[in-house]
Amino acid sequence: QVGGHGGGPGQISLPSIKHVVAVASGKGGVGKSTTAANLALALARLGLKVGLFDADIYGPSVPRIMGLHDKKPGTRGDRIVPLENHGVTVMSIGFMVEEEAPVVWRGPMVVGALEQLLRDVDWPELDVMIVDMPPGTGDTQLTMCQRVPLSGAVIVSTPQDIALLDARKGLHMFRKVEVPVLGIVENMSYYQCPKCGNREEVFGHGGARETAEKLEAPFLGEIPLDLKIRETTDAGRPIVVDDPDGAHAQAYGAIAQTV
Ligand code: ADP
Repeated sequence: QVGGHGGGPGQISLPSIKHVVAVASGKGGVGKSTTAANLALALARLGLKVGLFDADIYGPSVPRIMGLHDKKPGTRGDRIVPLENHGVTVMSIGFMVEEEAPVVWRGPMVVGALEQLLRDVDWPELDVMIVDMPPGTGDTQLTMCQRVPLSGAVIVSTPQDIALLDARKGLHMFRKVEVPVLGIVENMSYYQCPKCGNREEVFGHGGARETAEKLEAPFLGEIPLDLKIRETTDAGRPIVVDDPDGAHAQAYGAIAQTV
């Protein structure tokens, strides 16, 4: 439902892609990549042609999450041919750098590398491309937002105060560059014991919903902390693919519907 507004001055053009949606978080480790991948897969299940671009230069985890960590993209002429798995087209900065090698680039180099990668990839016709953004709200992220023709942004946060504070910064960053904030997802929202059903609010609960309300951004839904989400993600078969009829896949599906 988001309206494209790409092609502004200084923006790179991605003519074969209808909408570009950023998935961002104020800090690392909150499940941004997990959410980005499952959201991409849920959108594909709705019948859309979907791409997933991993721009998380400091910790590109999409190759592993999408079961492509031992693969390298091919080339066609001077263009890079993206990989595909689980019905989603995938490109990652991680295909280009060693998994174990620390990335010590400065901001402008990061933006330059990501721009070049976006431009050099032979993207097929896509209805939507999900961008797994680098965590944080610094200059790099801001420049990315200005250069990539984003239709909107989804912010992922845990219910913790500190994560929410960072999520708020993210929201303000997108508003500053006039990228519509499509909403906030609360990840690791609660933990339900699979044996006894007891529910624990490990990082607190409901904080993202309150933050969304306060900042007048939509609240998109909550995803619990669940061993199955962790295991499937780490095994390269995200939960939306691994258990397409389960409750988690439905939760991601509901988020995909609103995006
Ligand atoms: P980020 O991209 O924010 O750094 P990741 O998506 O890489 O975070 O997630 C960090 C770790 O947490 C991964 O091992 C992932 O499998 C796990 N994880 C993410 N979301 C959940 C969840 N809802 N339940 C259980 N584990 C999760």
